[in-house]
Amino acid sequence: MAEQIKVIRGMHDILPQHMPAWNRLEDQWRTLVEGYGYRQIRTPVVEKTALFKRSVGEATDIVEKEMYSFEDRGGDSLSLRPEGTAGVVRAGIEHGLLVNQQQRLWYSGAMFRYERPQRGRYRQFHQMGAECFGMPGPDIEAELIALAARFWKNLGLEDIELQVNTLGSTESRAAWREQLVAYFSDHRDALDEDSQRRLQSNPLRILDSKNPDMQALIEAAPRLQEHLDPASADHFQGLLELLDAMGQSYTVNPRLVRGLDYYCHTVFEWVTGSLGAQGTVCAGGRYDGLVEQLGGRPTPAAGFAMGMERLVAMMEEQSLVDQKADCDVYLLMVGDAAQRQGLQLSESLRDALPGLRLICHAGGGSFKSQMKKADRSGARIALILGEDEVAGQSVSMKFLREDRPQQSLPQNELNERLKAVL
Ligand code: ATP
Ligand code: MG
Repeated sequence: MAEQIKVIRGMHDILPQHMPAWNRLEDQWRTLVEGYGYRQIRTPVVEKTALFKRSVGEATDIVEKEMYSFEDRGGDSLSLRPEGTAGVVRAGIEHGLLVNQQQRLWYSGAMFRYERPQRGRYRQFHQMGAECFGMPGPDIEAELIALAARFWKNLGLEDIELQVNTLGSTESRAAWREQLVAYFSDHRDALDEDSQRRLQSNPLRILDSKNPDMQALIEAAPRLQEHLDPASADHFQGLLELLDAMGQSYTVNPRLVRGLDYYCHTVFEWVTGSLGAQGTVCAGGRYDGLVEQLGGRPTPAAGFAMGMERLVAMMEEQSLVDQKADCDVYLLMVGDAAQRQGLQLSESLRDALPGLRLICHAGGGSFKSQMKKADRSGARIALILGEDEVAGQSVSMKFLREDRPQQSLPQNELNERLKAVL
């Protein structure tokens, strides 16, 4: 036997038994966002590396060590997208979707990050997200939060909490940054290797460290709230008032900074306790500077992204997926004449009953082995076509999950009978 080639570490096959959860997640999302007036956008999985360097930020984990970057045959440096916002903004600028207009957009797709694989953290994973352009106030942020909250409610998910914070304006962040550098420099010996490196390049990111040994030091670090300019403070206060008015509960978490460089003002995360260490299922915020940074006109923007693997894991853990059978009717055929007639019969059933989930047996075998397959398919009804049935233009109907007698009926009454019982 030839040597087996296995899937790439950190990447996953999503097998059929998990698809009901995935499909439910995607179907519910589409219905929900479209109800809020968001329109879908799809961008390529591969972009120029420069796009992510300039948007996500040179000194972020993603760009420093998580990107799948390569040179293509023409010598251009390209990367598999590590997140969705950069591509959406690039496309928005390129197609003139952002100038003097408002946009509510959504996307869904595979993202790639070279991370250490663990539960809830993969090298290919999937995000769905929403992005809004042209709306500067906290009203759109409140809408994004309401949208996510309704999504959890529609899915039936429990144990997800909202954390919010403000990063303030560029100016207030600069003053805070200086204080952080001074503080962490005084405690340089207590910093882990990553944080020492970030001290100069991106000190805010030290606050985002996942290292448990760093938490006490982080907890005592200076807070941005003390440097907020009045306009930034008003913006944040405005959001909190809207959340209060909606009855949306939240925690203000002054340590919440997010791992990407492009955020300003509001940032938020939805966090669950039920997934262990990788508890953030949705993260987002305002990113007013990004459009300009990528070559567009200054445009206010806000959005969020959800980790689909983590949401699917929650749905499965909280038993929120019906394990509905994949099949209603299984057609068995015994004998050559039956096999010839069976395919025709099943096609005529599909014509008459759109949406019918019918498996037409293939691959031969005895009545007994076909019956086993019918049972395993989860079908409610087995239709049996044997020599007698072919001769009499009839078909036998057997209920596989109910205590009802087997019946024989004329083939030309089958459509009506199935319509009645299914
Ligand atoms: P983390 O702090 O967990 O690394 P992040 O800040 O890098 O998250 P974002 O870039 O904000 O994450 O992505 C939004 C969401 O996408 C996360 O909250 C998470 O649910 C999901 N996500 C991010 N990275 C991964 C991954 N490697 N595998 C699975 N899901 C992920
Ligand atoms: Mg990360």
